[in-house]
Amino acid sequence: MLRFMPLAARRILDLVLPRACALCGSVLAPCRAYPLCEACDAKLPRISARSERRCERCGKELISERALCLRCRSSGYHFDSAYPLYAYRGIAKELIVGYKLRNRRSLDVFLAEEAAKAAIEYFPGALLVPVPPRPGKLRRKGWDQVEAIARIMERRYGIRVRRILARRGRALEQKNLDFSARAANMRACMRVCGKVEASARYLVLDDVFTTGATLSACALALKTAGAARVDALVLAAD
Ligand SMILES: [Zn+2]
Ligand SMILES: [Zn+2]
Repeated sequence: MLRFMPLAARRILDLVLPRACALCGSVLAPCRAYPLCEACDAKLPRISARSERRCERCGKELISERALCLRCRSSGYHFDSAYPLYAYRGIAKELIVGYKLRNRRSLDVFLAEEAAKAAIEYFPGALLVPVPPRPGKLRRKGWDQVEAIARIMERRYGIRVRRILARRGRALEQKNLDFSARAANMRACMRVCGKVEASARYLVLDDVFTTGATLSACALALKTAGAARVDALVLAAD
């Protein structure tokens, strides 16, 4: 709970026990709300919302394409749009890998702030739906990284969260499947476990957009249950 301490206490503690940036290890300026230095923050490859080099559908950075990326021309996603905060490379990749795989849990405050700002600006009033963890993940890791971010978005930023998606059964290992096989696999194991309001706009939250099969399955489940519009917010897209 040290992350949420009052500013004065944070300042004193930072002077006694300076914290290090989770990425570069440099000593943090006192009172940073999260363990990331200003230099690393500035280097994050943020994808600008207004960039013409952003795919109109999945939000990933376009290289030589126009309007839609090659993946979106053939994938037939069920979500209406996806909004990644960063391109999944360089320091953004280090940040997310550090958070997810190296258990740098204190980065959740930073990631939640970034995600909350985007949700409030680009999806005002939307109900946030965290993607549920794969079976066994909680047991292996002991915590759910997407839920941790959703909880801070809810408590600190007042974003309404609806935990209405659940997985059923055990999905096949996805790594070696192509998009259509992944999509069919995911469709079979995602279900709605709460009430869907037809007039609400839903915003599915996940960490990394790779093929988009999980987000697409979430959107399909919500739409089948009556949601008219489903967008996606992700930390990064590769
Ligand atoms: Zn740093
Ligand atoms: Zn795209």
